[in-house]
Amino acid sequence: MLRKIFIAGNWKMNLTLSASLELSAGLRGQIGGVSDVEVAVCPPSVYVQQVAAALKDTNIGVGAQNVYHKDKGAFTGEISTGMLLDIGAKYVILGHSERRHILHETNEDVNLKTLAVLASGLTPIVCVGELLAEREAGTTEAVVRDQFEGSFADVSASDMKRSVIAYEPVWAIGTGKVATPDQAEEVHVFVRSLIEKKYGKEVAESVRIQYGGSVNDENAKEILAKSNVDGALVGGASLKVEPFVKIVKSA
Ligand code: PEP
Repeated sequence: MLRKIFIAGNWKMNLTLSASLELSAGLRGQIGGVSDVEVAVCPPSVYVQQVAAALKDTNIGVGAQNVYHKDKGAFTGEISTGMLLDIGAKYVILGHSERRHILHETNEDVNLKTLAVLASGLTPIVCVGELLAEREAGTTEAVVRDQFEGSFADVSASDMKRSVIAYEPVWAIGTGKVATPDQAEEVHVFVRSLIEKKYGKEVAESVRIQYGGSVNDENAKEILAKSNVDGALVGGASLKVEPFVKIVKSA
């Protein structure tokens, strides 16, 4: 099964509108026509529409970093999947560790969002990953299993197939401490085994599992060479044209 490598940039709460447009123009010029790798950028939601317009007619998709699970109503401050579709989004990052640990999102919250995103036709990028203390306590697999099972509860096999998972060890996010390619591969193999157990081999072999955590233009190639690493979710190194372009090219 050939899984298309998928590189996504998570801009988090960074950049101004003009900096977002400048970055988009740079990416458009250098990798706008890329076809052998799937590429997306996820700006702050207030910039999604302008970034999607700036990347129109390129192969770079645009995603959001969060969404609410309800369609509409009295949910002050929240944004629906329909609104994201309206402004040109194709992807939504869900369950990022910053949302789990700073905004206290639970597996149940992530599950409701995952179901809503899948029902809308958007593609979810669902993040899982352990804290340093959990890795040191030997509970990485238990934590990741819990997050996988919780986040994908009631998701059908056909929806699972079009979902993306990002394995992001929390101790490697924004810290410069990247997991070794072997450490990443080990957890990716485990995640794929969880998918296989629930949905069977065919689905497990089709789901892309990205690695995230201090990926940059120097370490990307080695991590992406692992057979179960199907791409990367890139934070810091996605905020500038050159490193992000290099990561995409190294894929
Ligand atoms: C992320 O934001 O998902 C991430 C992995 O960040 P960084 O690449 O900066 O560690």
